[in-house]
Amino acid sequence: MHTQDLTISTTFEGQKKYFASGKTLALAVRKAQLKKLKEILQANEDRLYKAIYSDFRKSIFDTYTTEISILYHEIDEAISKLSTWAKTQKVSTNWVNFPAKSYVIKEPLGVALIIGAWNYPYQLLLSPAIAAIAAGCTAILKPSELSSATSALMAELINEHFDPGFLYVHEGGVSETTELLTLSWNKIFFTGSVRVGRIVYEAAAKNLVPVTLELGGKSPAVITEECDLSMTVKRLVWAKYLNAGQTCIAPDYVMVHKNIADDFITAMQREISKECFSIENGNYVQIINNHNLSRLSSLIDYEQVAIGGTIDEHARVIEPTVLYPASFQSKAMKEEIFGPILPVIVYDQLETVIRQINTGEKPLAAYIFTSDSIKRDLFLNQVSFGGGCVNDAIMHISNSALPFGGVGSSGIGAYHGKAGFDCFSHTKSILQKSTLIELNLKYYPHTPSKLNWVRRILKLS
Ligand code: NAD
Repeated sequence: MHTQDLTISTTFEGQKKYFASGKTLALAVRKAQLKKLKEILQANEDRLYKAIYSDFRKSIFDTYTTEISILYHEIDEAISKLSTWAKTQKVSTNWVNFPAKSYVIKEPLGVALIIGAWNYPYQLLLSPAIAAIAAGCTAILKPSELSSATSALMAELINEHFDPGFLYVHEGGVSETTELLTLSWNKIFFTGSVRVGRIVYEAAAKNLVPVTLELGGKSPAVITEECDLSMTVKRLVWAKYLNAGQTCIAPDYVMVHKNIADDFITAMQREISKECFSIENGNYVQIINNHNLSRLSSLIDYEQVAIGGTIDEHARVIEPTVLYPASFQSKAMKEEIFGPILPVIVYDQLETVIRQINTGEKPLAAYIFTSDSIKRDLFLNQVSFGGGCVNDAIMHISNSALPFGGVGSSGIGAYHGKAGFDCFSHTKSILQKSTLIELNLKYYPHTPSKLNWVRRILKLS
């Protein structure tokens, strides 16, 4: 069966029926489906590598470390922890309800729509799908049309091996997504830009569909005088130029203290040349398409180029580029960069940095490189952002115990590990009363003595 063999309304209605049949409820069934997904990925690993290389020349090493291994981990963790995550949890009961017991039941939300972005095409589509399966949902997946080879491969693999009532991939772009968004889903999980996030949120509101929005924004990296400079630069260079900067949580720009700014740039120069970023070396990728290539090239102010700046239009490659000294007025500071261009802004006072970051939208990630715990705490307590690291960048995403998501315009909700299970689950609260006794205080007639008792009991509750 091919991906476009079924219409959107057919698969949607099919999934509603499948979910209503209760087939996804047994934990053993969910675990078996997750195991099956892992086996499909393992059996087709070579094809997964080839497809992503064809989309934007990503190497096997980077694809394994930043996509496939994460999916295997998410599946293994879900299988091993599902019984605990899904367990009905007892909670305390207040005196007013005595005698009774109270508990919360995790129930699957139902039929989910998962829309992915192109930059980590496997992880961004299948990781939420793993969470949906673990939670007992059915799901329709819509990969990004920009990474067409990975989109086609995921459609082929999923649609050949799974019942479309349970899991199905609909390929397509704006018109297909627009059609999908008109339906009454039980959950929409979207990864992509803030602009499209608004469209998704608006469409979801019409049917009161709960959403998780994994969006973007400008993620700062702040470097204080007290940092370990060589370690900072090593980790920062890796994080910025991984996937040629096309990473939602890549450091978008750097703010460096004035006393170490020149040394920082010299160390950046050394580290970038040591890393030898290139597609041939397997540690660099193409810019996804010509549209993004020209958008990125327009963000480079050549008077500010301190490192790199060369663009190979034919190969769709932009050299690792550093703009220094940049300012908040620089062109590259006007939008999320999402490419291998790093503006470096010099600062004097950390308080000013915090104020400047807080005047913009809340970032998806933020990083502080420092050994000064007072500055670290000041930053962590006064800047609101989705998640981040102290003395590193990007790596917080590799710990599935840390819920991953944005805040404000960088997103709504979070996933990975248990947070993923929770995001596709409803927490149903139950008060289970005993029929042995009834205090009768709430019933007519409402006497002064009853009111006294009510006051006493409510104080105890
Ligand atoms: P995008 O918003 O252009 O596309 C995302 C998805 O939305 C795609 O599947 C696309 O087909 C669909 N889409 C595009 N236009 C649409 C429209 N008008 N109506 C309905 N659907 C539409 O994003 P992108 O270019 O694929 O990804 C880049 C953005 O995603 C960046 O802003 C990046 O920060 C963000 N991102 C966020 C995360 C995260 O986890 N928070 C991860 C990756 C990327």
